[in-house]
Amino acid sequence: MKHKRQFASDNYAGICPEAWNALQEANAGHAPGYGDDEWTHRASDALRDTFETDCDVYFVFNGTAANSLALASLCQSYHSILCHEYAHVERDECGAPEFFSNGTKVLLLPGKLGRIEPDSITETVRRRTDIHYPKPRVVTITQPTELGTVYSLDQLRAIQAKAEEHQLHIHMDGARFANAVAALGVKPSEITWKVGVDVLCFGGTKNGMAVGETVIFFNHDLAQEFEYRCKQAGQLASKMRFLSAPWLGMLKDQAWIHRAQHANEMASLLHQQLSEIDGINILFPCEANSVFIELPIAIRDGMYDRGWKFYCFIGEGGARLMCSWDTTPEDVKAFTEDLADLYRKHS
Ligand SMILES: *Cc1c(COP(=O)(O)O)cnc(C)c1O
Repeated sequence: MKHKRQFASDNYAGICPEAWNALQEANAGHAPGYGDDEWTHRASDALRDTFETDCDVYFVFNGTAANSLALASLCQSYHSILCHEYAHVERDECGAPEFFSNGTKVLLLPGKLGRIEPDSITETVRRRTDIHYPKPRVVTITQPTELGTVYSLDQLRAIQAKAEEHQLHIHMDGARFANAVAALGVKPSEITWKVGVDVLCFGGTKNGMAVGETVIFFNHDLAQEFEYRCKQAGQLASKMRFLSAPWLGMLKDQAWIHRAQHANEMASLLHQQLSEIDGINILFPCEANSVFIELPIAIRDGMYDRGWKFYCFIGEGGARLMCSWDTTPEDVKAFTEDLADLYRKHS
């Protein structure tokens, strides 16, 4: 019971074998510190191969730092960052983007199902153009979104067009980037630099690694002195090989995509089984590895009493159910059976 698999977050899961084995292989005696080791060089090259371009790659410990430092490198303190009102950058980073950019203001955009609507970019940029308003500089998009939806290629292109029109950089929060690539069945390049993304924060943790995200600059100029930002923020790993080596394991033979694909499939199974429960209200389309449902308080508490854990504070409320690389069909069945049982008892 203590170690039962949960649907609270994909960060509840442990380390997947590919990442674990790569860590073990990197534990091979002495190697230079601070990134001048063979694993970090090879992992950076593997990322360049994956994205089919000569990008600048940095390894950091977590997503909050990746997003905040990347955004800080795109902005001066008098600029502003356009983001969706539910964005992690706005709601779940404790003001870190503003802190690391020395006060750059985050401007919030509405948008259905967690996606930024292109016209809201124009509205926000045009709202004020005088010197008293923080100058819009970046639009940040989360792929998949905080509500578990995925921006399609066309939606990304529409944002790119607006960003070009208003001379905004594009930052992508890809804490679950793998799930978006798996869901869309595209090459990583197609939904990043080919649609104008200047910098991607590519999540490893939720994909199955112990720790670590990469910050990938497709626009070299914007990466200037980024290593100093990392160091100052306490994000320069001294034994960096243990942050970088797992990427080698994950990128090899597309393990990262297969692991994400599995999580997506489990979410889709969960969605299907939940939709068979009488009286249930599923909130958003299931496009990646999460399902959101509205839960009456008695039923929510009943699930908690039976030992299930999930979050009810993301986005518009409701319960978020997140699948991970190790979620099994049996987990999905156990969860939905408990839920169906409670719905029967409370109807
Ligand atoms: C998990 C997550 C992050 C990273 O969070 P950390 O806890 O700082 O690693 C960033 N963006 C989104 C959308 C996330 O879900």
